[in-house]
Amino acid sequence: MNTQSTIRHSAHRNGIPRDEAEDARRVQLIEVTIDSLAEVGFVGTTLGEIAGRAGVSPGLVAHYFGDKDGLLEAAFRKLAREVATWARQRLALGRTPRARVQAVIDANLGPENFDKRTGTAWLAFWGQVLHNEGLRRVQTAYQRRMLSNLRSDLRRMIPGEAARSLAAMISAMIDGVWLRAALSEWQEADSESARALLTAFVDGHLRELTRAETTDLAPAAGGVAGRPARAHESIRVINPATGEELAVLRVDGAAQVDAAVAKARAAQKAWAGRTAAERGRVLQRAARLLRERNDELAELETRNTGKPIQETRAVDVLSGAECLEYYAGVAAGLAGEHLDLGPKAFGYTRREPLGVVAGIGAWNYPLQIACWKSAPALACGNAMIFKPAELTPLTAVKLGEIYREAGLPEGVFQVVQGYAQTGQLLTRHPAIRKISLTGEVSTGKAVMADAAATLKQVTLELGGKSPLIVFGDAHLDNAVSGALLGNFYSAGEVCSNGTRVFVHRSVRAEFIERLRARTAAMKVGDPLDPDTQVGALISAEHMHKVLGLIARGRAQGARLISGGARLTQGTLGRGCFVAPTIFDACHDDMDIVRQEIFGPVMSVLEFESEAEVLDRANATEFGLAAGVFTNDLTRAHRVIAQLEAGTCWINHYNVTPIELPFGGVKLSGLGRENGRAALEHYTQLKSVYVAMADVEAPY
Ligand code: NDP
Repeated sequence: MNTQSTIRHSAHRNGIPRDEAEDARRVQLIEVTIDSLAEVGFVGTTLGEIAGRAGVSPGLVAHYFGDKDGLLEAAFRKLAREVATWARQRLALGRTPRARVQAVIDANLGPENFDKRTGTAWLAFWGQVLHNEGLRRVQTAYQRRMLSNLRSDLRRMIPGEAARSLAAMISAMIDGVWLRAALSEWQEADSESARALLTAFVDGHLRELTRAETTDLAPAAGGVAGRPARAHESIRVINPATGEELAVLRVDGAAQVDAAVAKARAAQKAWAGRTAAERGRVLQRAARLLRERNDELAELETRNTGKPIQETRAVDVLSGAECLEYYAGVAAGLAGEHLDLGPKAFGYTRREPLGVVAGIGAWNYPLQIACWKSAPALACGNAMIFKPAELTPLTAVKLGEIYREAGLPEGVFQVVQGYAQTGQLLTRHPAIRKISLTGEVSTGKAVMADAAATLKQVTLELGGKSPLIVFGDAHLDNAVSGALLGNFYSAGEVCSNGTRVFVHRSVRAEFIERLRARTAAMKVGDPLDPDTQVGALISAEHMHKVLGLIARGRAQGARLISGGARLTQGTLGRGCFVAPTIFDACHDDMDIVRQEIFGPVMSVLEFESEAEVLDRANATEFGLAAGVFTNDLTRAHRVIAQLEAGTCWINHYNVTPIELPFGGVKLSGLGRENGRAALEHYTQLKSVYVAMADVEAPY
């Protein structure tokens, strides 16, 4: 029956156009059907059952869908259409063929649909496909679409025949994972583990299939999990707020990295031979150029990261410029010591550059990270090769141009582009003396292990799950401001964020109220709009990770106070926007409280005593940062002294003046950036003994 023929488009009922009301009724009946399939199964799902659940007459259900087959077909079609939409959205944001294959996997096994209700309904449909022509048509279309998406991207990585068979295997694995999960009543798998299984499966096969082709590209041997290297693979740079392609870059392989290292070695000696004051003048000029181009660079950073322009204009470029100015100034103060060794000798130490060093950046503060690493390195007389994160490769190139314009000799600062394999070519290169990485803990471990073979020094700025503690006597509005800054700035993509907000029981209710009100007033939207306060997350893949953790928070019983969902109104649907999310009534063992989310998700936890909150705040493998809000001066210092964190704030959060060293303890990292401390990480000591008398030898 063609239900459209029964709709009179011009009629209105209760102010709602008739066709909209009818559409809404159809949607409601389909949702009720999916509920019914999940709860009473295929046999129990009758027109009468649906009518009873929806509170309408069976005749009305028949009016819309004809018979039970028609109803089931409409429900199946709706589920298949949803998966297709998610796949389309994720595919649009996939930068590489591998990422697009992952997009298909994630769309099919994403946290939005990988649950008991949807899975049981799928199972019921699949059971009927052989007996119902309508269901078969939907299933065939769904299957074809998935296979063709997979094949077209796999073909860009492996030969056609292999691509066809791997696509079929992936599709069968997806169905198998669903089936197992449904049959075990969702005891055996969740979305994250299901996707991890498929990811490992795909990577394993791709590694096998590409091994022969990759060996000549990567003399350092060994792929990095998840991304098989291909000589011709490129990087598609995407605006995560719109899906727009910003650039396509070449991936640098072994030949380019070797050439960059050779150029850097040739240039470094002369650069180190200049006086520190001369080096400082080049950094000063570069800082001035950064300031002059603030708006242009901020806009590029915003387009590439999705961060609001009001942030990138005020912070990202300027904090980079401040860093250059600071090291321009302190470079001339680099000094060793003189040691009195008695009348016949003295000693002295020299602080010398390491030589060629490498910086590897994360995607959240691309230009700032490039400045934070290169400024101290160059001030000390090193040459630096910098690899930005593949998601955000653009502003480091601009920094290179600015350095050159400021008079930095050719080869002293170079940018190489690529994925983890390119990073690995740097970490394993025998002529590179040091790696400074900003990234995840697992990357830090891999980098350190790779660097060990050539005994490189490492500075590791890694992830965190930092505590922010609000005592009962705190200035509550300041504490709320700190919590907002420490969770929602840069859409929460800040390593030092205070995502575990411990609030004393006496002020928790009031704190939550003020937090809720101020969060409700935040403007999420187009990052280029100067009024926007929260922009897009970096990628579809990352957004779905964040949404998955939000779903986990809900499932584990945290109380949602604000946000909790992706935002898709209007043009936001083209990008990766997640509403600022606050969970209250959290417990220490929830996933959202233990794992780094790196998105706009705050967890509020209640505490009673100082000793208790200290224990709980320190009960984490991370140790990047911590904050305390209290008006009790002695308590503030007492608590800070006991917190296991490298960077702490009293009555503020997330401010990082360049003069103060920044870095973590425990799994959050090694070494420090900024301040005079960073100079030690970019120099080595030479001890010199100077004889002032004859050499006494017993021979
Ligand atoms: P990743 O660890 O995924 O990547 C960081 C960089 O390392 C990227 O350039 C990446 O390349 C590269 N890389 C990945 N694997 C290897 C490898 N085996 N060898 C050499 N290089 C490699 O981090 P994200 O970019 O996802 O950034 C987010 C993380 O960074 C969060 O955990 C956050 O907490 C942390 N961070 C820490 C900060 C700090 O100062 N402590 C500041 C900012 C962020 P590719 O781009 O191809 O993956």
